[in-house]
Amino acid sequence: MISIVVPAFNEEDGIAELYRRVAAAAAGWGDDFELIIVDDGSRDRTLALCEEMARGDRRLKVVSLSRNFGHQAAVSAGLFHATGSIVAVLDADLQDPPEELAPFLAKIHEGFDVVYAVRTKRKEGVFKRFAYYLYYRLLNRLATLDIPLDSGDFCVMRGEVVQAINALPERNRFVRGLRTWVGFRQTGMTYERQARFAGEPKYTFQKLLKLAADGIVNFSYRPLQWIMLIGLTVGLVSVLLAVVVLVLYITNWTIYGFNPHQARGWTSLILVLLFSSATQLFCLGILGEYIGRLFEEIKRRPVYLVKQRINVEAPEDR
Ligand code: UDP
Ligand code: MG
Repeated sequence: MISIVVPAFNEEDGIAELYRRVAAAAAGWGDDFELIIVDDGSRDRTLALCEEMARGDRRLKVVSLSRNFGHQAAVSAGLFHATGSIVAVLDADLQDPPEELAPFLAKIHEGFDVVYAVRTKRKEGVFKRFAYYLYYRLLNRLATLDIPLDSGDFCVMRGEVVQAINALPERNRFVRGLRTWVGFRQTGMTYERQARFAGEPKYTFQKLLKLAADGIVNFSYRPLQWIMLIGLTVGLVSVLLAVVVLVLYITNWTIYGFNPHQARGWTSLILVLLFSSATQLFCLGILGEYIGRLFEEIKRRPVYLVKQRINVEAPEDR
């Protein structure tokens, strides 16, 4: 069976069309399917419409969250409820067309465990496209694992992979990152991201920033390590400057009309300032290293995941 997970927040204008198009596309796959719509605390008729549609079709399953928890939480809720041996994640606004899933499924049957969608074109404004472009490159640079460029949550995964993702205990769930983290055989497939079928984007600027920050902070503590690097650099420059200042003071040298002896206390003040700011940054950097490691520990991700065992039992089954 194929599970199709769809998060929906105030999508009353498009949800019926989504159901119709998923059902039509699924008819061509030759497998049973379940459509799991996660209503993320919608304040419009999304839930009512889903209820009505679900009455006539047991393949449509609805999980309604008690309030708006955000896209990533809604996707996670859907993944927890999915029972299929293959699971797809789509947006409710039909920007990821269900008809596009057929070649993704073919890749899964070829033996891939995860087929994620890579957007070639986006039918969105220039600024938004540019911001996405930059962000994914920055994330890819910073993250300690290779999170694929220009790919969102639109994907098809084998059930085992979904279980692996579900078993990760962290709370701030950046699903596309977790999907990369769990590994297995993954491949990307390009597609053209469509314009929204109906309604306004449900991601506010603030929600997008939170998503962007989750991606970087949850998958990299390089920014913390930069503090140490900056501290060291500033420290080094300070030592050089300190030498210059001391030489100026001792030789009573005047450059550009300035002589340290004109301003009493200047030399010692500058020396203390340079020394203390470098020390502070350096110490912050040390703290950063510990905080980074604490954070890694707190996420409680497993140390490794096993894909297959040959001639050896899992330690927990022994
Ligand atoms: N969404 C959600 N909760 C939210 C915001 C968005 O479940 O708090 C859903 C929304 O209904 C849609 C998907 O997440 O199915 C993507 O949202 P949107 O289309 O606004 O994002 P964009 O396509 O602009 O990235
Ligand atoms: Mg959208």
